[in-house]
Amino acid sequence: MEWETVIGLEIHAQLATKSKIFSGASTAYGSEPNTQACAIDLGLPGVLPVLNEEAVHKAVLFGMAIEAEITPYSVFARKNYFYPDLPKGYQISQMELPIVGEGHLEIEVDGNSKQIGITRAHLEEDAGKSLHEDFHGLTGIDLNRAGTPLLEIVSEPDMRSAREAVAYMKTLHELVRYLDICDGNMQEGSFRCDANVSVRPKGQKAFGTRAEIKNINSFKFVEKAINHEIERQIELIENGGKVVQETRLYDSVKDETRSMRSKEEANDYRYFPDPDLLPVFISEDYKALVKTQLPELPQAKKHRFKDQYALDEENAAILTCSCQLADYFEAVLKDSGCEAKLCANWITGELSAALNKAGLEISGSPVDHKRLAGLLARISDNTISGKIAKQVFEEMWKSAATADEIIAAKGLKQITDTSAIEAVIDKIIAGNPGQVEQYRSGKDKVFAFFVGQVMKEMQGKANPGEVNKMLKAKLSQ
Ligand code: ADP
Ligand code: MG
Repeated sequence: MEWETVIGLEIHAQLATKSKIFSGASTAYGSEPNTQACAIDLGLPGVLPVLNEEAVHKAVLFGMAIEAEITPYSVFARKNYFYPDLPKGYQISQMELPIVGEGHLEIEVDGNSKQIGITRAHLEEDAGKSLHEDFHGLTGIDLNRAGTPLLEIVSEPDMRSAREAVAYMKTLHELVRYLDICDGNMQEGSFRCDANVSVRPKGQKAFGTRAEIKNINSFKFVEKAINHEIERQIELIENGGKVVQETRLYDSVKDETRSMRSKEEANDYRYFPDPDLLPVFISEDYKALVKTQLPELPQAKKHRFKDQYALDEENAAILTCSCQLADYFEAVLKDSGCEAKLCANWITGELSAALNKAGLEISGSPVDHKRLAGLLARISDNTISGKIAKQVFEEMWKSAATADEIIAAKGLKQITDTSAIEAVIDKIIAGNPGQVEQYRSGKDKVFAFFVGQVMKEMQGKANPGEVNKMLKAKLSQ
């Protein structure tokens, strides 16, 4: 039997506000436990939550970016459950009237684009953290995270493979960073995902029963966890079993999913409107204002890069995967006056490789756009070859010197003086009669040998175009 997979994702994006969603406590990550939880976050009696306007602003910005309906009147609700990291005994969330309604996101897999529906996105507060290590059989509670604003983004069950789910997650990740509403740091849990997975016989309309895999915090694990879950469900059904609706946990060490709780054991959250908070009204004026603040979005930027700079799909996609990288490219282009292709190739090639190796983002690049532009300008005006430029780049990575300073200090300027090149060519030809014979008898491949020898003799500084031209002429004499 052929099976089809159905996947819907629920993504929690932590909104990058300075203070919490209902209190003035700081949201900074990594502080001493319990130093950033105020009376409101602790749920002490008599306190009242006050909504953080910036969280609303960021949610609306997101809603606009996915072309969603912004709910004019949205309501906060209490989701009641007991857990040690939830001091109030309820989480403030949104239920019937989320701030962001139906929208959509376009993803690309293997060069094909597909539209994924977004059902809703709602504001809620995060819970604290249970710490199971360092307490000798006891559990510690850190409430610093309690009250941190989250945007929960719920997709339609529109994805049909783990790869589509990863593409969706990556596209969304890119979007929230472009919008500057979430730092996207997955290690710190700022962007995490629950995956709902079911299978059905190919051609069948009705969905199968789904399992929900909780709290996956890397792209790699999303793909692995989903693929694993698909296999488990198919095997189960083919052996006469039935998938039960349940919550499962992905164990990345064992690469398997395990049951956490079934639907029968699921909590009844007894949602009801939070009497401590007023509904949120979003006016037309406010929406119009936020609309003017929308930056150029990733897909639009990619298309513009292809049109305006004649970049190929791959370079355009890499350069627009973050706003910072795209800005860096445009700054290098402007400063250097070089061809877009040269700038793009260097940024996606040499620079990206060096950044990857050092585990750095473009914002932390030791070579800023000005210095890279200085280097590329020297390739463009034939002062140095592309090969020597790589050597100069390595030096630039380690020091604060400009390309011109390094070229001068190391004497790397390209030799375009034809008499100097000619002298070396004559010497190489005279020293390798056997190879000359081979070349003249039709073995064209030997040509590369001569180029190599001349370049070696001239420490890579000869103009390659000139060397090729003169060698050809000399060898055919
Ligand atoms: P709940 O209220 O239990 O969280 P929802 O209806 O809100 O359930 O759905 C949660 C997520 O599960 C959504 O992303 C949705 O697209 C997805 N989903 C719903 N049904 C299925 C299914 N049969 N297979 C896969 N995903 C599903
Ligand atoms: Mg849900």
